[in-house]
Amino acid sequence: MDHFQYRDGVLHAEDVSLEALAAEVGTPFYCYSTATLERHFDVFQKAVSPPIAGGTAPLIAYAVKANPNQAVIATLARKGAGADVVSVGELKRALAAGIPASRIVFSGVGKTREEMQAALAEDIFQFNVESHAEAELLSETAAAMGKVAKVAFRVNPDVDAGTHAKISTGRAENKFGIAIDTAPAAFARAKTLPGIEAVGVAVHIGSQLTDLAPLERAFTRVGELIANLRAGGHAISRADLGGGLGVPYLSDQPDPPSPASYGEMMARVTKDWDVCLTFEPGRLITGNAGILVSRVVRLKEGKERCFVIIDAAMNDLIRPSLYDAWHDIQAVRPRGNEQMRADVVGPVCETGDTFAEQRDMARLEAGDLMVFRTAGAYSATMANSYNSRLLTPEVMVSGDRWAQIRARPTYEQLIAQDTVPDWLNQEE
Ligand SMILES: *Cc1c(COP(=O)(O)O)cnc(C)c1O
Repeated sequence: MDHFQYRDGVLHAEDVSLEALAAEVGTPFYCYSTATLERHFDVFQKAVSPPIAGGTAPLIAYAVKANPNQAVIATLARKGAGADVVSVGELKRALAAGIPASRIVFSGVGKTREEMQAALAEDIFQFNVESHAEAELLSETAAAMGKVAKVAFRVNPDVDAGTHAKISTGRAENKFGIAIDTAPAAFARAKTLPGIEAVGVAVHIGSQLTDLAPLERAFTRVGELIANLRAGGHAISRADLGGGLGVPYLSDQPDPPSPASYGEMMARVTKDWDVCLTFEPGRLITGNAGILVSRVVRLKEGKERCFVIIDAAMNDLIRPSLYDAWHDIQAVRPRGNEQMRADVVGPVCETGDTFAEQRDMARLEAGDLMVFRTAGAYSATMANSYNSRLLTPEVMVSGDRWAQIRARPTYEQLIAQDTVPDWLNQEE
């Protein structure tokens, strides 16, 4: 459920008209709904917490990479969320938005010594370590600082998550995690290292998962591993089950499994684990809490197709060109029930700058406002300035209030990011 609904024929974000917002902010822009963000967090939290799942309250570490805007993280921080970060930049963002270090998990295959130092200095909750070499570097770095880092080894369970290849992470050929059958050896080696304490197992098999079966297979393997490790004398007190649960992108398709059914499956599989659980949802929290609003520049009748050319482009929302992703399209003020079939494209000089091909949708004309739904995750954060287009601004709505949470830069600011070397400024 979300809070982008029509009122008097005009699409609103909560109580704010998108027509009014577009008049103030200009297009294109991203718009997030606070009520939707909060609702998604609540629904997920309820689904994975006691009494539905046994044991103690889990840590819900929001995957910051899905949407790292300070206002988004701060909204979730107020609800008690932790953060899953994959770089020192994300660590700083999470801390700046009010997430305590004691609720921060550091994931990722390429943590550098400097990043480890920054996270160790904050005494974060956990490092999810993805190789023995990384464990050795963390050990050396922590020991030099007089710290002991809590570590979970991320295991690769070799299951096919059944999602797009570019967001599948749990197959043996993917770069992520250590092969699950080598985990006992990794824990044994880690035990000999100072500065780290291997207390848990982590798994994350991919994103936009629409079937619980691969997740259940992965969790089951983690359960077997935990038993195996304990039999080998390792004290395992934590398990991190990652993120990945999919969200509905297509309004006319069956919805992915609900957080409730995910929670039921998870509770059944983990009931005897006796560990502190962590989850790392990203897309599930922010995906349907955001839209991209754009204006139609003009219609162009091609030889075979009609093109709707809009003022947003692949630099603003890259998911269609990167992942062949589908985003539902809606008119902000539909013209009755009039429909059209068209290709929706941006102004960037790439054929890949196509949002939708031969899409059946509400009729749009030059000057009309339209939106792409489900643009709250992996959208604004992947925006860039290709074709010297200004970075897309972001707006957050809460009831009848709204605020720009990232302003559109000026062209002067865009150009001022570059520096011309002295030798080009010297008079000949
Ligand atoms: C990207 C990522 C997540 C979040 O994935 P979603 O599909 O957005 O829930 C969680 N954990 C790790 C390690 C990730 O890389």
